[in-house]
Amino acid sequence: MAKRVALVTGGARGIGLGIALRLADDGYAVAISGRRSVEEAKDAVELINECCHGEPGFGALYVQADVAEGRARARLLLAVEERFGRLDVLVNNAGIAPPVRADLLEAREEHFDAVMATNLKGPYFLTQAAAAWMIRQHESLGAGHRAIVNIGSVSATVASTNRGEYCLSKAGVAMATRLWAARLAEFGIGVYEVRPGIIESDMTEGVRGKYDTLIASGLLIEKRWGTAADVASAVSVLARGELPYATGSVLVVDGGLTQQRL
Ligand code: NDP
Repeated sequence: MAKRVALVTGGARGIGLGIALRLADDGYAVAISGRRSVEEAKDAVELINECCHGEPGFGALYVQADVAEGRARARLLLAVEERFGRLDVLVNNAGIAPPVRADLLEAREEHFDAVMATNLKGPYFLTQAAAAWMIRQHESLGAGHRAIVNIGSVSATVASTNRGEYCLSKAGVAMATRLWAARLAEFGIGVYEVRPGIIESDMTEGVRGKYDTLIASGLLIEKRWGTAADVASAVSVLARGELPYATGSVLVVDGGLTQQRL
């Protein structure tokens, strides 16, 4: 198939859906995944299909696959291969916050394990498997820009003592980006991190009031919530290969949250 193919994990809602819509609009055939059922992902698939300029044969694919589980990851890639036959862009977006924001002195080990499995182990090994496939494509289809984009977080560097496991997972994602960038460059695969700040989504719904107050009182240089579309714009640029000679880079999409000011 001539059309480029993108896979976005966690693409049925939130930031992932924003990315999937943007990539469909950019002309990719799009696959998305998540924990929800196929039925529950129907609306997202329809929205993505509306963006892909009605080209027959390229309808979006949804695969129910928990990124933390090895067998589900393998099934996900197989489904993409069977439907589209190639993979040009992987966006590791699926992620969770800890079930409760607990102080470091009280946080529970099972929440640590769950956050690490979804946010770090899952994308790390999905990258391993997707990269093996992309390397085979590099040998059979030839050179061409292929990209892996990890959705990290400002929490990779900003310490929040009420969600240590989340911060650690995103610090791990930052290193995973550098590791895979170093390993995959020889195969023409760029690996990047997009690092969002405070973005409107289900994940931040429970702390909306807190962040409204912080934004109003000057936390950000750009005084507004970030949107899924803001993050998707950064992914789009990286997926298209418009930042050459920049593998391993971090694109910060945080309205200035992490810009030091005096
Ligand atoms: P949401 O909670 O709104 O959406 C999370 C998405 O991830 C859903 O599509 C969900 O699918 C999927 N998902 C969660 N766990 C799994 C799993 N085990 N296997 C497969 N899919 C899974 O979060 P956001 O859209 O806000 O976050 C997306 C990414 O952006 C995350 O990595 C997050 O850490 C990161 N981020 C978010 C920020 C924010 O302010 N919102 C800021 C910085 C980074 P389903 O619904 O099917 O469970």
